[in-house]
Amino acid sequence: MTLWTDDAAPGQPYWWDGIDWVTPEGALPARCDLLVVGAGYTGLSAALAAHECGASVAIVDAADPGKGASTRNGGMFGAHPRLGWDALAQRFGAQTADALFAEAGGALDWARALIDREGIDCDLQQTGRIQLAWTAKHFEDQKALAQTLAEKSSVKAHVVPREALNQEIETRRYFGGLVFDEHCAIQPAKFHQGLMRAALARGIPIIAHCPVTQLERTGATFAATTPKGRIKADKVLLATNGYTAKPFVWHARRIFALPSYLIATEPLAANLIGHLAPGRRMMVETRARHSYFRISPDGSRILYGGRASMVNVDMQTAAKRLHATMCDVWPDLKETKLSHVWSGNTGYSFTHMPHVGADRGLHYAMGYSGSGTVMAPYLGAKAAYRAMNDPRGETGYSATQLTRHWMQPGTRPHFLHAANLWYRTAVDWSENLKSR
Ligand SMILES: Cc1cc2nc3c(=O)[nH]c(=O)nc-3n(C[C@H](O)[C@H](O)[C@H](O)COP(=O)(O)OP(=O)(O)OC[C@H]3O[C@@H](n4cnc5c(N)ncnc54)[C@H](O)[C@@H]3O)c2cc1C
Repeated sequence: MTLWTDDAAPGQPYWWDGIDWVTPEGALPARCDLLVVGAGYTGLSAALAAHECGASVAIVDAADPGKGASTRNGGMFGAHPRLGWDALAQRFGAQTADALFAEAGGALDWARALIDREGIDCDLQQTGRIQLAWTAKHFEDQKALAQTLAEKSSVKAHVVPREALNQEIETRRYFGGLVFDEHCAIQPAKFHQGLMRAALARGIPIIAHCPVTQLERTGATFAATTPKGRIKADKVLLATNGYTAKPFVWHARRIFALPSYLIATEPLAANLIGHLAPGRRMMVETRARHSYFRISPDGSRILYGGRASMVNVDMQTAAKRLHATMCDVWPDLKETKLSHVWSGNTGYSFTHMPHVGADRGLHYAMGYSGSGTVMAPYLGAKAAYRAMNDPRGETGYSATQLTRHWMQPGTRPHFLHAANLWYRTAVDWSENLKSR
């Protein structure tokens, strides 16, 4: 059987079909108060916040704005600490762990309010997200996490035992689940384009194909070199996440690009989707090389992401691997064809937590580690408020850290080749053994 529908366009994100792209506007100014580098969710949200504080702002992007991760992701929209309280306390101290738990619910509310305020039509649906336990131990951990969330945060979550799981998903693969009731689904490219429109409506220039190739500091100000000229700025905000590279060497040594892959099925019968995923939630697994999957906004397809490779592979290979993993969860989809496969870079920190920081006027927010649809705009705004000395910049994410790791001595994550092999063999084998 061929894997593809007749009109398949491997490499092209499903979200780009029929998108009314906003054209970036404006010439590179000679100077501004804040230069934002990167026009994804982080950079656009940072620009809106700084503009609100009265700053003159310019945004530059190395490529087409949004064609980093912000129009390629799974559109699962939610925020909860990526690590449990104990792990956070061990890495950053109990006070920071408490602060991150306390902030989690507020970040989602903030991002929903941004969508409302800017009138962004991005197919937002409050579907809830279910995290599916791959092993019995993972389910025990989920019960503990639900307890901690109830004690230390406003995040609403409830556990689903294995015997009730068929109300959520038609498979025997999982040992139970944890539902984050308030998490949502969005069309990520529409969200990005809405933020672009909001920035342009305020007269903020967005300059495409304009990479910063050099950044010099002269006293208290910066001069950035780009192929379209030089720009002086009092402050710079780095919003490059999984696409961070030279000349930002300090950051590139601490954030590594981990590719993630997604496929879209051909349209499926409504009763088949209802049968496979009666809960109609965003779905994500707990296994180390986890899959994440959902129903498309129009209810017609399954979008299935994750476990293709930790390094770049061709689209055919990625599609085959994801199709096989999807059929492992839902054997009913064996004959189902694919219309899309695509990839993008997530920006991982070695602590698996994002960070908002600054070094003498160079501000940054990055390291979302695969969960950035809420956290990127939220922390982009926090970083901008901090740059503007606005008290709204207060956040527990200024107390996390971007650390280095001996496995990555330079700016390129060559260690991922070995890690890929390790995860595809030893870790998979061990987790599969425990899942029986
Ligand atoms: C396949 C995939 C699936 C995902 N699924 C989800 C999900 O379901 N839910 C979720 O919460 N998160 C998800 N994420 C993560 C989320 O998409 C990201 O965390 C978020 O989009 C990061 O936004 P950003 O603005 O920081 O970075 P990006 O959108 O990646 O933008 C960075 C920009 O920086 C620019 N840039 C880099 N260097 C320079 C330079 N020198 N000069 C100028 N510009 C530069 C790049 O061109 C790029 O446009 C996913 C990510 C991927 C890749």
